[in-house]
Amino acid sequence: MKYDMPLFRPPSEANSLIFQVTIGCSYNKCLFCAMYKGKRFRVRSLEEIERDVSEMAEVYPATERIFLADGDALALDTKYLIQILDLIIDKFPSLERISSYAGPTNLFTKTKEDLKELKARKMDILYLGIETGNDDLLKRIRKGATSSQIVDGCNKIIDAGLRLSTIILLGLGGVDGSFSHAKDSARVVNAINPQFLACLTLMLGPFAKTYEKKIMGGNFKMVDKRQSLQELRWFVEDLDLKDCVFGTQHASNYLPINGNLSEDKDHILELIDMALKGEGSALLRPEWARGL
Ligand code: SF4
Repeated sequence: MKYDMPLFRPPSEANSLIFQVTIGCSYNKCLFCAMYKGKRFRVRSLEEIERDVSEMAEVYPATERIFLADGDALALDTKYLIQILDLIIDKFPSLERISSYAGPTNLFTKTKEDLKELKARKMDILYLGIETGNDDLLKRIRKGATSSQIVDGCNKIIDAGLRLSTIILLGLGGVDGSFSHAKDSARVVNAINPQFLACLTLMLGPFAKTYEKKIMGGNFKMVDKRQSLQELRWFVEDLDLKDCVFGTQHASNYLPINGNLSEDKDHILELIDMALKGEGSALLRPEWARGL
């Protein structure tokens, strides 16, 4: 099997077998995201997918986890996706779960019943970047959905019995938008109560000028370490979640922590406060190690 590179997957899918059912991202317009900008979106044919699945079933017959790439397998028509899932289930008898990314725009067209059909075929976790709950920011970054559309789509996933892993992108609103980004994001996440929640921190690299001037209108100032920790504090203090696995271990973050919300909320806030006071510097990731 050959992959059409680059290939992305969530860190928690490190041990999963990956099949590309689409190439690229069907939406591909989010202005902060460069993942699939070099790829033209296409749906892979059943013959191509069948060839990969049969080949890998010979090599790894005991596979338990499969991730469907690229950017958004849910862009596929439900009937076609069901054909693919049936094919996979048939070839991997030990399979426990299938997962994929999900974009909010493709959830517009999926009904709860569609998602239940996927769940019945071992689709188990969908990974969705909320990025922010702030509507002005969502519009600026061209996420393609409002905060209430994102809440509706995510609730559809959970109501269908699938597990949902979400991402909030710290620093997206810069220094001026930091407070409203944190507070609106907490409001939206509370309205969803996902099973998994991760924070990443915006790192723009060569896109910094474009983001600062064209997208944010010239007055954009990137958050520094302290502001990023403050934003995380503002966000976490408002979270009111049940049984949500929370983590900031991604390499872009300054403070890698994890825990269960709400159980570990007080402890998580204590750690953030320590970092804000300049205590426990051993907890913090040095600037040079971010993104590695
Ligand atoms: S939907 Fe996801 S993969 Fe596609 S452009 Fe937006 S962030 Fe990137």
